[in-house]
Amino acid sequence: MSYCILQIALDTPLNSVFDYRWPHEVDAAPQVGPQVGQLALVPFGRREVVGLIVAIVAESDVPADKLKNAIAVRSQLAPLSPQWLALAGFAADYYQRPLGEVALPGLPKNLRVPTTVALDRALKKMAKLPPPGDPSPSGMPPLNTEQREAADAIGGAVGFTPALLYGVTGSGKTEVYLQACAQVLARDPQAQILILVPEINLTPQLEGNIRARFPGLMLATLHSSLSEGERMLHWLAAHQGQARIVLGTRLAILASLPHLQLIVIDEEHDPSYKQQEGLRYSARDLAVWRARQLAIPIVLGSATPSLESWHHAQTGRYDLLPLRERAVRDAVLPTVRLLDMERDKPKEGLTAGLLAALRQRLERGEQSLLFLNRRGYAPVITCEACGWISNCTRCTSFMVLHKPEHRLRCHHCSLELRIPRHCPTCGNVDLQPLGRGTQRFEEGLSAMFPAARILRIDADSTRKKGSAQEAFDTVHRGEVDILIGTQMVAKGHDFKKLTLVGILNPDTALFSQDYRASERLFAQLMQVAGRAGRAGLASEVLIQTRYAQHPLYSAVVRHDYDRFAMNLLEERHQAALPPYMYQALLRAEAPELAVAVAFLEEARDILPSEAVTLNDPIPMTMTRVYNVDRAQLLVESNSRPALQAFLKEWLALLRSMKSRVRWSLEVDPLDI
Ligand code: ADP
Ligand code: ZN
Ligand code: ZN
Repeated sequence: MSYCILQIALDTPLNSVFDYRWPHEVDAAPQVGPQVGQLALVPFGRREVVGLIVAIVAESDVPADKLKNAIAVRSQLAPLSPQWLALAGFAADYYQRPLGEVALPGLPKNLRVPTTVALDRALKKMAKLPPPGDPSPSGMPPLNTEQREAADAIGGAVGFTPALLYGVTGSGKTEVYLQACAQVLARDPQAQILILVPEINLTPQLEGNIRARFPGLMLATLHSSLSEGERMLHWLAAHQGQARIVLGTRLAILASLPHLQLIVIDEEHDPSYKQQEGLRYSARDLAVWRARQLAIPIVLGSATPSLESWHHAQTGRYDLLPLRERAVRDAVLPTVRLLDMERDKPKEGLTAGLLAALRQRLERGEQSLLFLNRRGYAPVITCEACGWISNCTRCTSFMVLHKPEHRLRCHHCSLELRIPRHCPTCGNVDLQPLGRGTQRFEEGLSAMFPAARILRIDADSTRKKGSAQEAFDTVHRGEVDILIGTQMVAKGHDFKKLTLVGILNPDTALFSQDYRASERLFAQLMQVAGRAGRAGLASEVLIQTRYAQHPLYSAVVRHDYDRFAMNLLEERHQAALPPYMYQALLRAEAPELAVAVAFLEEARDILPSEAVTLNDPIPMTMTRVYNVDRAQLLVESNSRPALQAFLKEWLALLRSMKSRVRWSLEVDPLDI
């Protein structure tokens, strides 16, 4: 009996490709033997695990007596394509992680368990699924000129064609995507399309639009709230080419799509496209790489593009497809006004100007949305007698008052306490909430407008599965007069009866240390402002601020993204910041800050380099979380390849340092 060697990627933190023996010859009848891209069950330590075959070779460097046999090859499943393996390989390389840690978590869990029960069941189920179906669209509204040009440019593009669809809120970007999709689907009977949205809450609305437009077509969704069984089935439908459109959140970028012909990234500027733990990838950036690799078009849509994408559009690397008007007849962008809180002193956090506008909407039977990025009742409680404040004992943060639940909660480590009856330091029983969160505004509004139907949507009010969708449906049905919510309500939703948006407390972001804070604040304000007046009713956005002179607000008032972006890019250029600079961030955490910093200092000096700059380690802004102190070291270069080459060598050295410190590296960090 002769053997071949299977090189198998496993989900392990270090070197992740391992050799296993398989009783088969390398070049004997390849179709009957194992194939690259198939999954295999192998012994690993005392366990049996599933890995991915990444190469099949004749010989191994591992001594014969150390070499183990693979147990089984999952031949029920078609191999993952070389293109998919290349995508996983690129992501692993670029983000400096082992291949197995990238490739395997990208697959549904049920494929990665030792038994094949779930796989066998899903295949059986697949057989009962309807065929991929008829791509003919139904009920296509006529497009306006700019929409037509954009849809044709995307739908008719050949080869790698990245385009930035820069459309003001309500300009009908969705319709452009759908009609471009229709063209691609009509041209190629196998074509698959990947559509990404930043937030799970936005999938139902778009899913509804796609199903209505392509009633005969198989659509599969991929996001984190699917059950494992559903996830497996949807993943397989994509992998086997039945699903013609795959709609998902960032994790769907790693879906296996053998006939992928078009990628759509909606709200491309959204930070949610960046995974913030484990493999810290940007789904948007990987999508662009994937489109280039497959030589297919990709469209990035936004009313407030990321400065990275805007820069590419300005320099001609992306095609710019503008939609400057709202699509619905008579719908114009809302009037934005600033309410100066220095002059119009707020009552219960609400200025007279905003209260009057709310009253007016109630009288007219129109909807209002109040936006505040702070959940809970109050961000902190204090004792006025001795100055005590409710700090978290484990983090550099406050315990947030959650009044309905009678709890203090830390939003960073989830510590929960009952609300103390008296001050822990001086015994004073009169503890006061300081500042306002969504719950407190809800309470104040209910008292001021007892007849109004008020609904709060935030992470606390939507903990139960399905409750967020239920809440949004209530708003769409017109059963809510005043909606109050966090960024959950700011994005994407097409509320037809909404004519007033009140922005309650945006000022803190103006003075953040994070250089991206103003880009984000601007995008967020434009997004939430864009919820108003979408169906043609005259509408208004009121911003309560203490800094009415601030240039960021004047740009929002004028709906002037172009100039705002131009100024910001100029600033970034001057300050040598992204997109003119490439960055990576090494983070370290330890029970004591000094230990984390010492590790980073050692790391800074371990590999001298001319092409990259290693800054001094600094504590992170929120230094302590869950009893662990955190520090960071920023690495920069004006050349991406130079940075990549440095990181590869550097990481090998860091891994050999054998430090007790936990560390991680992020490439292209968003928060620094
Ligand atoms: P965006 O994503 O750009 O904010 P949407 O895609 O949600 O905007 O579209 C806003 C509204 O305009 C929707 O109600 C949509 O049905 C409508 N719409 C889009 N295109 C057209 C069109 N060509 N004619 C009429 N209405 C349109
Ligand atoms: Zn006190
Ligand atoms: Zn905490």
